[in-house]
Amino acid sequence: MSGRLQYKSALVTGAGSGIGMEASILFAQEGASILLADINLVAIEKVAALISSRSPNVKAIALKTDVSKEADIRAAVDKAVAEFGRLDIMFNNAGIMHPEDDNALNTEERIWDLTMQINVKGVWWGCKYAILAMRNNATDESKGLHVGGSIINTASFVGTMGAATPQIAYTSSKGAVLAMTRELAMVHAREGVRVNSISPGPLKTPLLMEFLNTPEKKERRMTHLPMGRFGEAVEIAKAALFLATDESSYMTGTDLKVDGGLTSAYVTAL
Ligand code: NAD
Repeated sequence: MSGRLQYKSALVTGAGSGIGMEASILFAQEGASILLADINLVAIEKVAALISSRSPNVKAIALKTDVSKEADIRAAVDKAVAEFGRLDIMFNNAGIMHPEDDNALNTEERIWDLTMQINVKGVWWGCKYAILAMRNNATDESKGLHVGGSIINTASFVGTMGAATPQIAYTSSKGAVLAMTRELAMVHAREGVRVNSISPGPLKTPLLMEFLNTPEKKERRMTHLPMGRFGEAVEIAKAALFLATDESSYMTGTDLKVDGGLTSAYVTAL
């Protein structure tokens, strides 16, 4: 264990799959105690077992959590503090891209509302309860512990770029995550709470691959990817690890783009 997060504790939402799972494994490898929060209990129990086998000195607890419910997020933060004594890192990562999400004309209100409930309100509540907990963190310089903490919100490149392959609710929700992150970073900067977002490019995770369920849909995107490939969840998790550690101590209010160059692209290579 190299211990970049030794003595710290983290809560990861959407920890049962994709980015959240990979980040939980990395955080644990670096010594953090982890509360794995996901609506899919079976999935997080498997991740907890994997972490325990690979990092036996680290505590990993699975707690069924629906981030669209304020009481669930509050309970998850309370559980992390009760078990680990503090909360240093909050990774608000859970999100959905609904298969019926479409353009402004075709998307039903229930799809819009569900997407906002999970992708926006879930992040807001995650930030709210994390900030309240982080204010109580005791400082211990000998262990690299301090008041405040690091909040990381998963946004998306679609919060910044336009796409003619529409998903109006999802796109709007990620724009909200970017704006919310900036404002929270400013309001809480003097409390030692850093708030940053990550904008992943398109990834080979169930969230996108289930949405792009035909070769044509995948190819429609592939043309625009400078590196000629979708990203891997672990490539986003590594960026989350950097934001979680004090190596990013002078970063707040930033959106870290981990998108294979997509947001810099005009014409891609043949
Ligand atoms: P994923 O589908 O692999 O994992 C998402 C996890 O979130 C799942 O384990 C799921 O059970 C959980 N989840 C869903 N609804 C939940 C809820 N209400 N409460 C708690 N947990 C819930 O997806 P991923 O690709 O790892 O996505 C993680 C984040 O990254 C999301 O916010 C997504 O919008 C964002 N993102 C993904 C991509 C991509 O291409 N995959 C690109 C940009 C941003």
